[in-house]
Amino acid sequence: MHAHINAFLKPQADEELRLRKQSGLVTCFSSGTPEEWRFMQAYKERPELLFSFGLHPWYADRYTTQECRTALEQCDIVGEIGMDSVWCRVSLQRQQKMLEQQLQLAADQKKPVILHTKGQEERIADLMQGFPEKICVHWYSGSEKTLKRYMALDCYFTLGPDTAQLCKAGGLLQRQMLTEIPQDRLFVETDGIGAVAWAMQKEHMELTQIPAVLMENLTYAANQKGQTPETLAKQMQANLDAFLS
Ligand SMILES: [Zn+2]
Repeated sequence: MHAHINAFLKPQADEELRLRKQSGLVTCFSSGTPEEWRFMQAYKERPELLFSFGLHPWYADRYTTQECRTALEQCDIVGEIGMDSVWCRVSLQRQQKMLEQQLQLAADQKKPVILHTKGQEERIADLMQGFPEKICVHWYSGSEKTLKRYMALDCYFTLGPDTAQLCKAGGLLQRQMLTEIPQDRLFVETDGIGAVAWAMQKEHMELTQIPAVLMENLTYAANQKGQTPETLAKQMQANLDAFLS
């Protein structure tokens, strides 16, 4: 449901897309800046890909919404957009302004959104009240209590690449997510190979690991839901269709 490709390293990007296609994966690639969006246009005819665009909160002070307008109009999904007070020093006031402007553009165009909520889960849950389009919360890591607020908003959720690993280590939040989020609101994602390496505490991960990481989390989630991986994969495809409809 959500990944970033190493923009500007075309041979590596081509190789990742080849591997994903060979594995039968549908991927929504997210561009976080207008430059990344222009880079991704080289792949726009590929039927197995979707393209989301949102000015990422990390870059919220580097661009105006006007500079992002073309990408926001061309994309399939708006995001990831949101706020981040853990990994980013951009003022929260600026981040909130860019989030609100992009939410308005998404609502005007009737497009679904993907949210990045790191450290700002409560504030973003407040902002999303009454948002009229579908919402997907990516790699949620807030409190168990705030999770319920997003569930009350009927959000979709991606399971981060470390979900199975954290569950096996006793992670209460990840276990709660798999228990409480209905299977018609779930996706898997990698967030990109760099994010997988970070989550697994590795210096480097091979692109060939991507299908295995997705399959590990899909299989773990399917077990928790009493389903086969094949059934849950089909469900996720239906979820994507519903999310885009
Ligand atoms: Zn991301």
